[in-house]
Amino acid sequence: MTQRVVVLGGGPAGDVAALRAAQLGAEVTMIERAELGGTCLNWGCIPTKSLLAGADLLRKIRDAASFGIRVPEPEVDFARMMERKEEVVVTMRKGVEAACKRRGVKVVRAQGVVDGDAVVTGDERHEFDHLIVCVGTEPSGLPGIDMEHPRVVTSNGILRLERIPEHMLVIGGGVVGCEFASLFAALGSRITVVEVLPQVLAGVDARIVQQWRRIVEKQGITFLTGRRVESVDYGTDALKAHLDDGTAVEADLLLVSVGRRSQTRGIGLEEAGVIINDRDHVEVDAFLRTANPKVWGAGDCIGGLQLAHLGSAEGGRAVENALGHEVMPMDRTVVPSCIYTHPEIAMVGLNPEAAKAAGIEVKLGQARYLGNGKALGEGEPDGLNQLYADAATDRLVGATVMGAHAVEIIHEVGVAISDGLSMDDLGSIIHAHPTVSELMMDAAEQGEGVAPYLSRIGARPTPPLRHADGSVQDVAVFRRRSSRRRRFRIRTATTRTLPSNHPATPAASAPARRSAPSQRGVRTTIVTPATPRTAVAARKAAVSRARQVNRIEVRSAITAACASMRVFGVAPGTA
Ligand SMILES: Cc1cc2nc3c(=O)[nH]c(=O)nc-3n(C[C@H](O)[C@H](O)[C@H](O)COP(=O)(O)OP(=O)(O)OC[C@H]3O[C@@H](n4cnc5c(N)ncnc54)[C@H](O)[C@@H]3O)c2cc1C
Repeated sequence: MTQRVVVLGGGPAGDVAALRAAQLGAEVTMIERAELGGTCLNWGCIPTKSLLAGADLLRKIRDAASFGIRVPEPEVDFARMMERKEEVVVTMRKGVEAACKRRGVKVVRAQGVVDGDAVVTGDERHEFDHLIVCVGTEPSGLPGIDMEHPRVVTSNGILRLERIPEHMLVIGGGVVGCEFASLFAALGSRITVVEVLPQVLAGVDARIVQQWRRIVEKQGITFLTGRRVESVDYGTDALKAHLDDGTAVEADLLLVSVGRRSQTRGIGLEEAGVIINDRDHVEVDAFLRTANPKVWGAGDCIGGLQLAHLGSAEGGRAVENALGHEVMPMDRTVVPSCIYTHPEIAMVGLNPEAAKAAGIEVKLGQARYLGNGKALGEGEPDGLNQLYADAATDRLVGATVMGAHAVEIIHEVGVAISDGLSMDDLGSIIHAHPTVSELMMDAAEQGEGVAPYLSRIGARPTPPLRHADGSVQDVAVFRRRSSRRRRFRIRTATTRTLPSNHPATPAASAPARRSAPSQRGVRTTIVTPATPRTAVAARKAAVSRARQVNRIEVRSAITAACASMRVFGVAPGTA
């Protein structure tokens, strides 16, 4: 029997849920009270990035003389910028509408309210076997601020501005506040951002934020962190905000960007047995199912990271689980998160703080944009790429990139994390030259201490592993290159296993490392096996390390490891 799926909300979570359900053969109704595409398409990702593209172009034009191109001082036609933004939005929206039509998704344009096993719109009932709730969020106001005042806007209102503010005060130094600050700074506004937390862009690697701040402050953005706005005097032409430290900030526009409220109350969800928590989020389990087995949740309304691509992934997963197609929990290990300021910031996986909280000691690999030929050629020398690996295993756990094209190049690390690659693996992948993506290879090599052009400062070698029996296992990987142009790699993986009281300390192996023969391929040597058991453990570690070094060379690594074992008279797999 054909299953009936109703999707409540037509944002990126709802759209994907509806289209995927139709693909899987369900009869689908999607209910949307406003425009298809939700916040992302109409008030978020798409309009803001269209405007930011204009701001980037303006920066380039202003910098044209440094490229040897003389142009008169550019003039901003703000009305045309906004019009263009709207054209992009409409084009994208038509795309969603066309996709729904193509897949046979019935779109109902109305407010939906859940009533038993149906969603009611006006006098129509839409019965469901599965309901996917994707109602998203709306901008929050701030208590004590007159949100109706014509000089006060949210992230929605600012997209309807008719003129560029001279001085904009932004309350809230999160991603949305900082993106608008970056946009209007490029258009010539003076910007003050007030943030109650000690750091703007909370959750981003503090080292990166520090450097980012230094760059954007030069663009005319002032940050007042660790402070809050206590009151505002409202004038006809200007506002005056009073901060808790006695500072007063005058501005002609106030952007309140302090978070978003879920749209989950008053639409029959609680009556249907769905639990709405104290933050107004729909409570779901790992499979995105609510307390009502027929109701599923996806997107911003279930809490967590508020990102369109995550919402879409959740929408697809919720539907697949509901329809019993490849049922599995929602995997959020690799969710890139991007900030479209100038310079951009992009992140994936864990940052050092999150890794520490998870009990992971982080090994850092760094590369600066200043050393990247493509970035320099583009006039974008400001930036830093940081890769984070688990110091115990060398496996990549995350990255933060700040600089030009950061939002494009971050995905490589997502794939690497997803595939369980090590920092060394990433450094071994030949990257096209010149590309900004080379920063990934460079940072990985710097982390491994083998970058031809970069110093080892900041790089920490994988610490020796200490086993329960007291033995110490130290794994070192050596790679050398003949030249940047004609690359060939020489690798030697050496594993030493020593009893804890053995006179040969890890440092004592340094000469042995230095004298490691230069030859192609992986050579695995077992030095001084303490007991047959630790020797076998060492062999396993060497093989696993060799696998990390280069998957293709695993076979030769195994062969070499076995040969070494024979040298010491221990048959592999025994003991
Ligand atoms: C300024 C800004 C910039 C952003 N930039 C980015 C970015 O660059 N990248 C990124 O990944 N994310 C970005 N986001 C976040 C992104 O927009 C959201 O994560 C995403 O839209 C969430 O999708 P959703 O489908 O869960 O909810 P929404 O997009 O909010 O969609 C929910 C939909 O449900 C409808 N609805 C609600 N209740 C009902 C009801 N009872 N009946 C019928 N319809 C209902 C709403 O009208 C809405 O259309 C940005 C957000 C903002 C505000």
